[in-house]
Amino acid sequence: MNETTRIVIVGAGHAGGSAVALLRQYGWKGTITLIGDEPVPPYQRPPLSKAWLKGEASAESLALRPAKFYADNDVEMRLATTVAAIDRAGRTVTLADGEVLAYDHLILATGARARKLSIPGIDLAGVLELRSAADADKLKAALLPGTRVAIVGGGYIGLEAAASARALGAEVTIIEREARLLARVASTSLSAFFDAFHQEQGVAIELNADVAALEGEGGHVSAVRLADGRAIPCDVALIGVGAIANAELASAAGIDCAGGIRVDLSARTSDASIFAIGDCTHRPLHHYGREHRLESVPNALEQAKQVASALTGRKLPAHEVPWFWSDQYNLKLQIAGLSFDTAETVLRGDPSSNSFAVFHLAADGCLRSVEAVNAASEFMAGKMLIASRKPLARERLADMSVSMKDLL
Ligand SMILES: Cc1cc2nc3c(=O)[nH]c(=O)nc-3n(C[C@H](O)[C@H](O)[C@H](O)COP(=O)(O)OP(=O)(O)OC[C@H]3O[C@@H](n4cnc5c(N)ncnc54)[C@H](O)[C@@H]3O)c2cc1C
Repeated sequence: MNETTRIVIVGAGHAGGSAVALLRQYGWKGTITLIGDEPVPPYQRPPLSKAWLKGEASAESLALRPAKFYADNDVEMRLATTVAAIDRAGRTVTLADGEVLAYDHLILATGARARKLSIPGIDLAGVLELRSAADADKLKAALLPGTRVAIVGGGYIGLEAAASARALGAEVTIIEREARLLARVASTSLSAFFDAFHQEQGVAIELNADVAALEGEGGHVSAVRLADGRAIPCDVALIGVGAIANAELASAAGIDCAGGIRVDLSARTSDASIFAIGDCTHRPLHHYGREHRLESVPNALEQAKQVASALTGRKLPAHEVPWFWSDQYNLKLQIAGLSFDTAETVLRGDPSSNSFAVFHLAADGCLRSVEAVNAASEFMAGKMLIASRKPLARERLADMSVSMKDLL
């Protein structure tokens, strides 16, 4: 590497913004160009459905780094700029306006986008999604006391938005196609807990409910029509039905993709001079012996470390256990690991106390994942136990008189 070696990063989100900082921290002397299609420097998305939506965090606090950080660290920022194509043979990217930029190493950090529903009425005013700060601005403006919000999708974003909307005095109905909330991402016990908790907070929940159409009056949404014919009246409809990797740029350039851009544990794609990090990737999971796409800040940070290490010749970072969090009302949910190949679950603590953990064990007794609600030590110790692959006695795990420290 010398001072003229060029890194171009496509996507100025959490992963791209973190990669910039780590590259400089690890001693990258070459040029760095960070290109992002949003008009603002990298920011944190998690507060958009939580503290920021409730008005408890300022817009400035969302920024990943102070604006001057980029100039101070000699990073060329190209905001409100879309990369339209990659020429792998020529090692260039073409911007939407036709400008061509050369790279020696390219990092794709294009993230994911909200999945769209193709149903009648989806383009009505008042039908919103929540991925960007601009989306959050629109949602926040609509959430007034008494506003009727229909949230289509009972995943984490839907549930967090529901909790924030209730805090703002809105009337909330969650409409979920599956038989339980968080069906794709959580155990049945956790789903049942969150279902009951949201209902206690005044949220109406419709399960097994397929949305057939959005109906409007004067061009503005007025109801969600379900497949069984019922209508849920609303002033705002928030569609939160998952996210899709922005992998088209890579796949159009012939880079190996599988529901995300395939990378190895140094975040390298099938093209040795192109890396990919964050929500856009389909990545190996060291602790699980398989590949998967993760959507989380810890994943974006881990892969930013991987690429910065690979490009600066540092030893690759240790393999992390994937983890996630979600804040709803006064509940802090922390999840470590993934529930692949599990044989049994063990409950520790009492869900009625709003502090408990569900451990998921493989057939050999090794811990695969833990879902911890207001249970920080179960989460922390669980993360270490997953990495240690040490078989656990279920009775001791369930026994609150045995400390998590002792289990370690
Ligand atoms: C509302 C919300 C709440 C969340 N809460 C949590 C949470 O509690 N905990 C957690 O761990 N994670 C949470 N997440 C997920 C977390 O924010 C993401 O995992 C993280 O932002 C991923 O970072 P990224 O850089 O890969 O993608 P992004 O942050 O999405 O950044 C990608 C950027 O690339 C841009 N881009 C795409 N294509 C191009 C192109 N061709 N040219 C230029 N720019 C392009 C995109 O517009 C975007 O700005 C939440 C996400 C949302 C939306």
